[in-house]
Amino acid sequence: MSVKIQTVGVIGAGQMGSGIAHVSAAAGFDVLLYDLSQESLENALATVSGNLARQVNSGKITETDRTEALARIKPVKQMDALASCDLVIEAATEEEAVKRKIFQALCPLLNPEALLATNTSSISITRLAAQTDRPERFMGIHFMNPVPKMNLVELVRGIATDDKTFDAAKVYVAALGKTVTVAEDFPAFIVNRILLPMINEAIYTLYEGVGTVDSIDTAMRLGANHPMGPLQLADFIGLDTCLSIMQVLHDGLSDSKYRPCPLLVKYVEAGWLGRKAGRGFYDYRGETPVPTR
Ligand code: NAD
Repeated sequence: MSVKIQTVGVIGAGQMGSGIAHVSAAAGFDVLLYDLSQESLENALATVSGNLARQVNSGKITETDRTEALARIKPVKQMDALASCDLVIEAATEEEAVKRKIFQALCPLLNPEALLATNTSSISITRLAAQTDRPERFMGIHFMNPVPKMNLVELVRGIATDDKTFDAAKVYVAALGKTVTVAEDFPAFIVNRILLPMINEAIYTLYEGVGTVDSIDTAMRLGANHPMGPLQLADFIGLDTCLSIMQVLHDGLSDSKYRPCPLLVKYVEAGWLGRKAGRGFYDYRGETPVPTR
């Protein structure tokens, strides 16, 4: 029998979790959004509300669609509330220890049949699955940022993921109106395996003084026809997430070509994590972003 998904739990109400809650609710799923931080939950609901309002203004959805979607998202401060979920998607901070703790607390609460997924950008699905009580019902559902705008979702099976789980994830992603690409479970999968070394190289280009923030981003926007420069994109992704992905590539593939640029490490140590922190390769605290180098 195929797995029927009606209630989706989302763990982590940051940039990605709020987007996953948005698209799931807009597609008619009931959403329980959980975060440790009350501030993240409040910001997430405000973001979803604002993004839905923008979609009403551009004629993509009606005001009724917006109200109904918002009503389907329930913020929760206790993990126990996720017990009724058919699918839980973990979208917390990109640190394996954080995710491991979440799965340890979550699994005993869930219905044995419930599916569990992670939105990790880079960490081994097989290794994360092994830390749960349901490796066969665990997989990677990797959304792109910003979730409401980006059409792609990478699906990644762990070694034990069964066909029913994989098929249910395909049905869920199709219901969101998004396109699936399937990646094997290797560090950073497809998109970030290719994208992050390019961003890391852009940071080396800055570190070595080949160009300024502005010249590097202008070069790649106009010279390679990228919609965003690589440093602008790094700020958008979050520099802590970029560093974690480079570390996973470096550790997982043992190739020095993936060594994270020391300048990226320095920005993260400074807490200059990009757009979400108000400062990264650009300073976002004024009216227009100003390069920080
Ligand atoms: P973020 O920093 O915006 O949000 C992370 C959220 O997780 C925060 O609200 C934090 O309070 C919460 N959190 C931390 N520990 C928690 C815990 N123990 N329980 C519950 N909540 C907890 O990060 P993000 O950019 O949304 O990334 C989240 C995940 O999505 C990461 O695995 C990341 O690799 C992945 N991802 C990110 C992007 C991107 O472009 N930023 C794209 C695809 C996937």
